[in-house]
Amino acid sequence: MKIASVKGFHDVLPGESARWTWIEQRSRDLLGRYGYSEIRLPIVERTELFSRSIGDTTDIVEKEMYTFDDRDGSLLTLRPEGTAALVRAYVEHAIAQREPISKLYYLGPMFRREKPQKGRQRQFHQIGVEVIGRDDAAIDAEVLLLLHDLMGALHIRQPRIELNSLGCSNCRPAYRDVLRAYGEARRASLCENCARRLERNPLRLLDCKVATCRDATADAPVMLDHLDSACKQHFDAVRAVLDRETVPYALSPRMVRGLDYYCRTAFEVVAEGLGSQNAVGGGGRYDGLVKELGGPDAPGIGFALGVERLVLSMADHPEALPLPPDIFLAPLGSAAEAETMHAAHRWRHDGLRVEMGSGGRSLKSQMRFADKTAAPFVLIVGEDEVAAGAATVRDMQAKKDFPKAVALIADGTALRQALAQLAASGEEKKAESGGAAS
Ligand code: AMP
Repeated sequence: MKIASVKGFHDVLPGESARWTWIEQRSRDLLGRYGYSEIRLPIVERTELFSRSIGDTTDIVEKEMYTFDDRDGSLLTLRPEGTAALVRAYVEHAIAQREPISKLYYLGPMFRREKPQKGRQRQFHQIGVEVIGRDDAAIDAEVLLLLHDLMGALHIRQPRIELNSLGCSNCRPAYRDVLRAYGEARRASLCENCARRLERNPLRLLDCKVATCRDATADAPVMLDHLDSACKQHFDAVRAVLDRETVPYALSPRMVRGLDYYCRTAFEVVAEGLGSQNAVGGGGRYDGLVKELGGPDAPGIGFALGVERLVLSMADHPEALPLPPDIFLAPLGSAAEAETMHAAHRWRHDGLRVEMGSGGRSLKSQMRFADKTAAPFVLIVGEDEVAAGAATVRDMQAKKDFPKAVALIADGTALRQALAQLAASGEEKKAESGGAAS
């Protein structure tokens, strides 16, 4: 009996996985240039870490976490996001004492029991970055520049940054009261979730997806009109850097990011190719979180990108495809197979990408396999070639054979040179005969 994978949990198959690797490598490279170091965090944390940090009136904590009893009475959860876990590690290892400003990134799976659809899985993967220890507008701007540059480096189609400020503990409470009163006056038209959360989390009104809720709150007051002067100055300074660096963005006053811990700068990045789940990433500032989780009063800011959505929204790019082998070896018979095995081992050691057929297969079947791998050269080794100690090279593009053209004892460098020469002579022939070689 076949056993299927779990709903919302996906395999990443060869071919697609090359895009993942490419995304990870490009991201790591850029993050390094911006001064970030990687932190590797566990997948399981204590449940209270998330209920305390993300907020117990959020969708994630209310209904999406994979939580289980660890058979000793303790409740554990598969992490639904990375920030809380990263801050937990930051506090636990007293990282603040070693480095007052930390720039960290993480990569890996997250788990949320959401309704699966295009761009929404129950296991998904994030690349996340966090800066802890700075609260100035310049670092918020730098984080946004990094986000913008990542979109470019990953060839994301038509990325658009949406920006908002969520105020701070000084100005937000008064705004929440205004919004709560606004919601109370329309309680009868609100969806069940918004009505229930109105008391504790009125900001949810602004990003509720239910159409009747949206209509009823179309003219709701927004935080941007209620920032105190320090928050306004901070926000203006962030925008000034983006303008100077010509990073395009749109103000999005109703974007509240859902989680309790955000303050001041909040943002999302949306892109083409994603359908209704069009955010590839999001983040913001979280100045109270480190203290809330038992650490020093250190401010933080960060964002997370969803890798599955990056894959969906990236433009086709040849570098992100699986690399073909440099050469394909086709031995004919067991003596030839032993010789090619030996040569392949050396050439791989010398840095070449080598694929090899089976000596028991016909040349025709091996050539079919070689064709599929898209190797530019096939080295055919039959009895004659073994006796001569040299392989016949087939230039797959020019469709031309060069009998016993490369020595089986050649090292990787010599082999590369020989193949380059053969390819050039194939080209010459083609030019002489007006391309008739093909
Ligand atoms: P969030 O932590 O909800 O702000 O998510 C940040 C990013 O992670 C989103 O913009 C998505 O790209 C990705 N993401 C969040 N939830 C899911 C999910 N269920 N499936 C796939 N990607 C997700």
